[in-house]
Amino acid sequence: MSDIDIRITGRAGRITLNRPNALNALTYEMCLAIEKALDRWREDEAVHLVVINAAGDRAFCSGGDIADLYANGIKGDYAYGQKFWSDEYRLNYKIFNYPKPFVSFLQGFTMGGGVGIGCHGSHRIVGDTSQIAMPECGIGLVPDVGGSLMLALAPGRLGEYLGITASRMGPADAIYAGFADHYVPELMWTDLIGRLETSGDASVVEKAAQSPSAGTLKANTAQIDRLLTGERLGDILTDLKADGSEFAQDTLKKLSRSSPLSMACTIEMLHRLRGPSLTLEKALDLEYRFTYRASEHADFLEGIRAAIIDKDRSPKWQYGDMDVPLAAVSKMLQPLGRNALSFEENDMTTPLTIGFIGLGNMGAPMATNLAKAGHSVKGYDVAGTTAENVTQVSGIPEAVDGADVVITMLPNGSILRQVAAEAIRYMPKGSLLIDCSTVDVESARNTSEAAEDKGILSVDAPVSGGIGGASAGTLTFMAGGRVDAFAKAEPLFDIMGQKAVHCGEAGAGQAAKICNNMILGATMIATCEAFALADKLGLERQKMFDVVSTSSGYSWSMNAYCPAPGIGPTSPADNGYAPGFAAELMLKDLGLSQQAAAAVNADTPMGELALQLYEQFVEHEDGRGKDFSAMLPRLAARGRDD
Ligand code: NAD
Repeated sequence: MSDIDIRITGRAGRITLNRPNALNALTYEMCLAIEKALDRWREDEAVHLVVINAAGDRAFCSGGDIADLYANGIKGDYAYGQKFWSDEYRLNYKIFNYPKPFVSFLQGFTMGGGVGIGCHGSHRIVGDTSQIAMPECGIGLVPDVGGSLMLALAPGRLGEYLGITASRMGPADAIYAGFADHYVPELMWTDLIGRLETSGDASVVEKAAQSPSAGTLKANTAQIDRLLTGERLGDILTDLKADGSEFAQDTLKKLSRSSPLSMACTIEMLHRLRGPSLTLEKALDLEYRFTYRASEHADFLEGIRAAIIDKDRSPKWQYGDMDVPLAAVSKMLQPLGRNALSFEENDMTTPLTIGFIGLGNMGAPMATNLAKAGHSVKGYDVAGTTAENVTQVSGIPEAVDGADVVITMLPNGSILRQVAAEAIRYMPKGSLLIDCSTVDVESARNTSEAAEDKGILSVDAPVSGGIGGASAGTLTFMAGGRVDAFAKAEPLFDIMGQKAVHCGEAGAGQAAKICNNMILGATMIATCEAFALADKLGLERQKMFDVVSTSSGYSWSMNAYCPAPGIGPTSPADNGYAPGFAAELMLKDLGLSQQAAAAVNADTPMGELALQLYEQFVEHEDGRGKDFSAMLPRLAARGRDD
């Protein structure tokens, strides 16, 4: 099962976080998946409301998955975190403004990123195990994901208290502080979710709500308001130290665990936000000023190191003496100018400049589809080929100069490495390289590393669907690379194809492609063998097609690309076996699969045999230049002993 389960049940759009062993920590992929679902359901009349819950009983969501942020930040790649946070905040904003009821069930830990997806909806339900908190100062961040809005709106100085102490709130406290709306005993949740799904009516929540047992925050209001009013962190510390109460001592102990810079910024943020013109946009904008700079200038990487990498729980904070200069706070919170948080979606939907290298059978129609969708496409092919609506240029530097995106569609890995090395030299930092060729996993990884070293995002995205799919814009993309790179490329995949699957890290797209094509090579041979056998048994080819295409022997080779002329949908067999997908390209892909299989010690006897047959056909017979389905006339002409 995947990390998140998204479906429609009855009248409800349903989201279930499904990483119970990781306390349902929110990954970048989960964030993007929730956003996509909400976008789909906004106008879908079948969806009356959205219900989000989580698997397991320990946590709704313990926060954002910070391991990836650390791994990229420690390499000096701050762009990953910046993109993650801006995409996450856009999701928080969408939930807050969602036009349909958004009902969340918040058992166990709901912290940080979990608050962002669980506490901005219209109906926020807590139970006896709920523990809600904004613990970001403990890892060198500030309360974010819109949490600063709730903190600024909390009664009195409660926001300061919760923001810098990371105190956990039980059900009554969460409702008092404005992080939740209703208490419903957890035993009743399954039934309540069922009723929400069948009725599509969120008012059933109010009817089920009960009063929780008393919390502690309300009782401490007077002390909180007295001790956390100081203008700056230093003033608050002075007041706490001067007060002899147990509450003051306990609060000081909590503060000793957190980043002083983060706490000082949190106080400043809440003071700036509080007031009549407070909006979620303002809160997120201010939070983003901090998080944008957090990996480079704040204690964030050190905080994660101490918490989850080395687990020594002894972070070496900047300003360890708690004396944070005003200038340091101002520096973290000053406006970001053109890098300011934007709630606009992926900018790949606006017209782009695209450099397209390799305008062969596949590349030419793909480039044309991008141009027809409104992008400005410059195309280059060493053979001088052109494509409709594409501006032909005379070299790689010209094709990639000023391009937002560069796409390559080339014959093999060594050509890709050569082309990519030259292209990367001229590509602007922050641009995106998408390689759609089928190449070896090593070349894909190598290209990705070379791009990343220059601050260029990259995705290996080989395709399936053939020339027909390239022309019709119905290809399937299997992609490898960072989540942010994939998210950036997705709108372009949507133009050139009908489906794009993010398969994992760099090279994962090529791994998926060679596995797919190993199946394709073997099934094409099996399909051709069956036709050749049918001939000799006196079975009409059409009859065999009629049976097999709807029986258990069916496959893409049989049903969509039938190797027998005049049978099934039009295919290269109907055009004298002109490619289509050339036999030598299939030979290449089978070679790649066997090379990969040898490298990881995988036993692939069918793949090996398919490779030998295509090798024989292409290298020693007349297969070169023919479609890979021309295996049928070859086999039909042979006997067992040939
Ligand atoms: P193709 O041979 O028709 O196109 C490749 C193009 O790259 C050619 O036009 C060639 O001139 C150009 N090229 C070679 N070196 C170059 C260089 N240094 N600079 C610029 N251009 C250069 O091949 P195709 O069928 O379009 O396939 C392209 C890729 O897509 C291959 O990796 C193939 O395995 C894969 N693929 C093909 C199909 C298919 O059905 N044809 C299906 C899926 C994947």
